[in-house]
Amino acid sequence: MRAKGKIRGWTLAAAALALAGCGSLIPGGSSGAAPGNASQSARAPARPAVPVASAPQSYAPRAEDASCLADLGASGARFDPLPDTYAAPGCNKLGTVQLMALAGDRAPLTLSNMGPVRCSVAKAFGDWARFGVDRAARQLLGSPVAKIETMGSYACRNVAGSERRSAHARAEAIDVSAFVLADGRRIVLKRDWDGGDAATREFLRVVHKSACKRFGTVLGPEYNAAHEDHFHLEGAGAKFCR
Ligand SMILES: [Zn+2]
Repeated sequence: MRAKGKIRGWTLAAAALALAGCGSLIPGGSSGAAPGNASQSARAPARPAVPVASAPQSYAPRAEDASCLADLGASGARFDPLPDTYAAPGCNKLGTVQLMALAGDRAPLTLSNMGPVRCSVAKAFGDWARFGVDRAARQLLGSPVAKIETMGSYACRNVAGSERRSAHARAEAIDVSAFVLADGRRIVLKRDWDGGDAATREFLRVVHKSACKRFGTVLGPEYNAAHEDHFHLEGAGAKFCR
């Protein structure tokens, strides 16, 4: 099952795919791969950026990433592991994957606009999609979810209006903007959070609440105008749910 998600992904083919995939999402492109050092299990800040010229040609996962990738594969997600990359100060992709699909109870959920995302965030996203979103859609709207539309994951940028790097700069957040049901209905956050029928509005509030159980930080339309059209789902850090 989903052999692509296993360690086999650490091939030059995966690296090539990774670089191809990055191009569409990173303004200015990524500035070179700096693959992880398998002998070093420390978290990202302990690892110095490796100049492109000295980057080795293998992508052995750190132990924590290998364990996450195994869990993600077991969840039924389809993905390719990506090589570690340092794009700019404060911007990196370490232990990330390119997600193609997530497991629903009965059928896979496809995704749109996803870029690289940290494995731990991908895992939380997969669990939320299946146990939070897909099941809520069946219960409240009478149809499973076929697709989750996003506004991306990795972006080398600051939090709007601040000097602080966004979690998106570390590929640790996903912005979700809409859900497409198997029966063809499309639920759009911007339109339906307040403007949908009662069941649709309840569905959006239920999936927002369930996201708060699985992610560190969740921001939605009630937080501020910048989030009126998406849920910001961020993996790490203290619990914050608005
Ligand atoms: Zn966001």
